[in-house]
Amino acid sequence: ESIILAVDGGATKTTLTVRTSSGKCLFEKTARGSNYQTIGETEAVTVLGQLLCDAYISAKVERIHVAVFAIAGIDTKADLEAVTHIVKQSLKRAPFIIEELLIENDGHSTLLGLVEGKPGALLIAGTGSIAFATDGNGKVVRSGGWGHRASDQGSGYWIGRQILQAVFKSEDGVLPPTLLKQLAFQQLNIYSIDELVAWLYQPHYTNALTASLSPVLNEAIMLGDEQALVIAQQATQELSLLVKSSLSKIEYGVAPFPLYLNGGILQHNSFILERLQELLRNAYPKISFNLCSERPIEYIAKRALL
Ligand code: BGC
Repeated sequence: ESIILAVDGGATKTTLTVRTSSGKCLFEKTARGSNYQTIGETEAVTVLGQLLCDAYISAKVERIHVAVFAIAGIDTKADLEAVTHIVKQSLKRAPFIIEELLIENDGHSTLLGLVEGKPGALLIAGTGSIAFATDGNGKVVRSGGWGHRASDQGSGYWIGRQILQAVFKSEDGVLPPTLLKQLAFQQLNIYSIDELVAWLYQPHYTNALTASLSPVLNEAIMLGDEQALVIAQQATQELSLLVKSSLSKIEYGVAPFPLYLNGGILQHNSFILERLQELLRNAYPKISFNLCSERPIEYIAKRALL
């Protein structure tokens, strides 16, 4: 029986598991984010190094047959080099003997574990966003997910930022009053715009904080807030464009084509999820929607065994 180590490294949290090929869990732990584009290399090494060290002590195995590090923030060749360096530095804290080491973008690994060699597409809208598609013949393409600074439309971070912009604009009278303000204040347990600015510029700010505001959108939509609806419609539109872009890059045949949906936004914002399905169903009558029922780490662990 072989032993696998799988890591799902996002911008908000990182999960590491050590399992046997038959699925017995020897170790699992979740810590904070490890996307180096958002927290920097040093911090990424700290997070991954600590998880690996804990795994080494608790799982009581030395030899790992396949280790998959599925990490957000691998968008270019240079990113891959940077993350490879980060992983190697982190592994210094855990002297595992690793026979096969795979370092990949988080969505890429998740897609491979989901489709298991068949055609399919994956849309992730978590803290970041990205779409992937594969024809089942080895071709894998991606769209979006170029990171929070200029991309990641429809993601939790993007939505959090739109919420903050709406709150500040309505404060300035550029936009009408919005319930997003009260709801954001409530969530953050604050009472003024000054406190909101202080929260935003706290010394330990990370993107995960902005993304943590995204659930407020759902509440505001349910209360019929106009600004919330505008943001949700934009997010939906942007997410549909990611899917369309990825599908335009492959030949996926005429058979029903599965689109897997994952990430906090798609899992928890039913308004966005339903509108998105409507938009895509019109464009691709043969598409089938599959909201992922398991956590990404499960698919990444499956990917290790392929
Ligand atoms: C990152 C991508 C990642 C996506 C989903 C984006 O912010 O740049 O590498 O795949 O988030 O986690």
